[in-house]
Amino acid sequence: MEAPKKKIAVMTSGGDSPGMNAVVRAVVRTAIHLGCDAFCVYEGYEGLVKGGDLIRQMGWAEVRGYLSEGGTLIGTARCMAFYERPGRLTAAKNMVLNGIDALIICGGDGSLTGADKFRGEWPSLLEELVSTGQLTADQVKPYQHLNIVGLVGSIDNDLSGTDATIGCYSALSRICEMVDYIEATASSHSRAFVIEVMGRHCGWLALLAGVATGADFVFIPERPVSECWHEEMCAVVKRHRSFGKRKTIVIVAEGANDKDGNKISPEQIKDLLADKSEGGLALDTRITTLGHVQRGGTAVAYDRMLGTLQGVEAVKAVLEATPETETCFIAINENKIVRKPLMKAVAETKSVVQAVEAKQFDKAMSLRDTEFSDQYKSYLTTTNVKTDEHKLPEKERMKIGFINVGAPAGGMNAAVRAAVAYCFSRGHTPMAIHNGFAGFARHHDDKPVGAVREFDWLEVDGWASKGGSEIGTNRELPSESGMEHVASLIAKYEFDALFMVGGFEAFHALSQLRIARGQFPALRIPMVLLPATISNNVPGTEYSLGSDTCLNELVQYCDKIKQSASATRRRVFVIETQGGRSGYIATLAGLAVGASAVYIPEEGISLGMLNTDVTHLKKVFAEDTGQSRAGRLILINEKASSVYDAKLIANIIRDEAHGRFESRESIPGHVQQGGVPSPMDRCRAVRHAIKCMEHLQGYGKKSAAGSTDALSTSVIGIKGSELVFTAVQELEEHGTDWPNRRPKQSEWLRMRDIVDVLGGRPQHARPE
Ligand code: ATP
Repeated sequence: MEAPKKKIAVMTSGGDSPGMNAVVRAVVRTAIHLGCDAFCVYEGYEGLVKGGDLIRQMGWAEVRGYLSEGGTLIGTARCMAFYERPGRLTAAKNMVLNGIDALIICGGDGSLTGADKFRGEWPSLLEELVSTGQLTADQVKPYQHLNIVGLVGSIDNDLSGTDATIGCYSALSRICEMVDYIEATASSHSRAFVIEVMGRHCGWLALLAGVATGADFVFIPERPVSECWHEEMCAVVKRHRSFGKRKTIVIVAEGANDKDGNKISPEQIKDLLADKSEGGLALDTRITTLGHVQRGGTAVAYDRMLGTLQGVEAVKAVLEATPETETCFIAINENKIVRKPLMKAVAETKSVVQAVEAKQFDKAMSLRDTEFSDQYKSYLTTTNVKTDEHKLPEKERMKIGFINVGAPAGGMNAAVRAAVAYCFSRGHTPMAIHNGFAGFARHHDDKPVGAVREFDWLEVDGWASKGGSEIGTNRELPSESGMEHVASLIAKYEFDALFMVGGFEAFHALSQLRIARGQFPALRIPMVLLPATISNNVPGTEYSLGSDTCLNELVQYCDKIKQSASATRRRVFVIETQGGRSGYIATLAGLAVGASAVYIPEEGISLGMLNTDVTHLKKVFAEDTGQSRAGRLILINEKASSVYDAKLIANIIRDEAHGRFESRESIPGHVQQGGVPSPMDRCRAVRHAIKCMEHLQGYGKKSAAGSTDALSTSVIGIKGSELVFTAVQELEEHGTDWPNRRPKQSEWLRMRDIVDVLGGRPQHARPE
């Protein structure tokens, strides 16, 4: 006899956060795909306690369009009844009556604490339900163990053990968007702005917003300022103004306190900045409290991806759990989705709050993850430019060349800015090489102007949020510019190290420089590459700067296109994405918008695939009774096939549809390179650039290891759960698919199945 189908329920609880809908969609569809029944509990624990219509079985089509909606479509609530045992008893009864085997909860630490309590009490709740005659022993028999998995949905990013919570990057994006707007007016009027952001116990939003926007000062709960914070802040602001800066931005988390636990209010900060007495700053100062806009709006690409991947993982965790399995939650560390013990994370989260309350601030910082402390260091580096505090002795100071290679990508300028700030703070000399190797090579002794020059901090300081490449970038390789000439210029300028930011060409350039070291001694200096390209095709990393900005642009574009079909409903859009021979952005955008099919160069396109997909679309439209609100999308990478392009595929679909539905192609083109870089790209740019500088500095001036050590020519990158440097030689030999200009192996390829399953694509559409 077949085992009864498992019934898996999903609910959202606590404060809403963008990306919760992606979770619901992923759980519902993955559960159905794996042969289970999917349920939604509406209105959080309130729904579990009240039961009835608030616990509903969900069909595949009912979660259509969920990805592009903000908030949570199944509702959330703060439920007082669930804090008490009688409430949880009724909830248990409703679970059994609905036959629910497992519960996936997406919420903050309160919701997850409640979930664990529920699970702990479960056997006694069942006993009570039987002993009080509310249920029979037979009724409760199949439900002896409650299976619970947590997902962290919160804009605050306040849970220990995970680098990001679902929703935090959307909130950060909204904050940075607002700060970017405010900056323009601040600069015009030479004003100061105090911006209050959410975060009662966690300063992640305030800190990261500070790093992403290049704010002058940040107040966070974990690292309160000393008793003399008034003097400290004024000194920093004064110093920045003395460089010629026309705007002052101070970001304050709502839970910011001083070291004695006294609240620091935006008004206090404003009064200080506006102080007209002698020695006061006398700045025209305004306060902006961002409030609930931070929660609002649709989810950014990253939160859709995180919600989706974690939702899928949660269903797998539920199905693999045994009565002995500890309750887990799904976390992300750097780029890796992992299961972790729930209660340990909740306990650690609580201890951060307790440590802050007990004024153990070092402990509070150490309990946050490494990204948090790295970013705190980033903030200090970029705001303490040109102080003598961290300067190295004269003989250890280096002259470092900065060069951008390849197409522009979001975050390049933020990376350069942070690295320049680091150099100034340590006493190194950062030198801009303009317009890549082509620009460098155009340098002739009779016309040296412009190609290479020392950075000016006032100019660079404004680059935190700028798109493009301010120092100019170019695709030309050193071999094309003339390796001997490049080497002679490196010798002429006496560079002690080279910092490169760019895509696959930059990787290729670095490889050429490494190989040419044998011939040209001037190249025997440490060199490091920080990958930046929307194609995300640099060997040695799973993430390149700019790829997040690009995904956000694509996702917004696709949302609009999809919506445009809402009047006719019966339309398929075939959208061509960039990405060179890497299908990364097509696949990830497909994941974030719910594409019906994604075509990538790694797989190519066959007649059989097209046939299967077109046949499937015909079936979908034939069965669509009109409840779906928007059109359907197919994404195709620009180099997926030498025969089929977006236009041809759209024509084939239209022809096959025989008037039953429409098909159009659409090419977003260079929009994908993005305007303003995303906060994720900006923040990672800063963190990774500072790591690169530390790495270069580690070799010191003219040390032998600077050319003999394998890592003296390396790429920084995220690999799984780590941020590491990898030797270029190793990547050249073992990690690079040279003809296709991409890594030999790409982690993201594993996501193709999820895109297909959740998009409802037939399993046999793609080649094995
Ligand atoms: P946010 O981070 O947005 O505050 P949260 O999940 O921490 O989200 P809470 O209001 O703390 O939000 O919790 C949501 C709901 O979870 C509560 O209304 C309550 O029903 C349940 N809950 C929270 N803590 C507990 C607990 N200790 N015991 C039982 N239920 C709880």
